[in-house]
Amino acid sequence: MTSADANGVAIYSYCFPEDAAAAAMALEMTRMAVNVYSTSFGPYVHNSLTVVETDLNDGLETDGLYFLARSFYRAYAGGVQNNLADIAVHETAHQWWYGAVANNQATEPWLDEALATYSEHIFYESNYPNLVNWWWNFRVNSKNPSGAVDLRVYDTASFQGYVGAVYFQGANFLDALRLRIGDASFFAFLRDYYARERGSISSAAAFFAILDQNTTVDYSDLVKTYFYYR
Ligand SMILES: [Zn+2]
Repeated sequence: MTSADANGVAIYSYCFPEDAAAAAMALEMTRMAVNVYSTSFGPYVHNSLTVVETDLNDGLETDGLYFLARSFYRAYAGGVQNNLADIAVHETAHQWWYGAVANNQATEPWLDEALATYSEHIFYESNYPNLVNWWWNFRVNSKNPSGAVDLRVYDTASFQGYVGAVYFQGANFLDALRLRIGDASFFAFLRDYYARERGSISSAAAFFAILDQNTTVDYSDLVKTYFYYR
């Protein structure tokens, strides 16, 4: 186990001894992401955050701790253009979207997954602005995403279909929304949404109600394009 400090938040990284170099990167990405999201969204709600190398095949968030696939550590060959770095950032974002602001994971999974995925974009543009185009291609465009952002977990049996719609079309929607209403309103909205929904189980209704209090710009065509149930 190694540790780091993110402005008073203790970050712990557990790994198998042979994966120490990759674990150092997971620790550093987590530390940087806590700093970016504390500034962009609002303060982290715990005193520590732990990342654990494990043998499940992806990343998986819990509150104050997340798991990261051993395969990501084994494939790590340096740099931040890989799953180890990007999924570490994604699971860290879940501490804000899922951990602090909760949501119904079955009926409105986009509320945390679209925000966690787009939070990766916010991380890269803050720390590695020259890698934003890489991020879009690596994470979103290469998957040719389609489908309604507000798909329910019961609506598809396909994992590809699920993540394509909820995560990647979700990121496309949030980026289009940001472009439409402008950076100032978009980030004011995210901060407001976080401040008011933190500690509760949020909803799409709350998301859009708070959005409407932060912009007067008409974005209804984007909702028609990207959503099915609204
Ligand atoms: Zn996620």
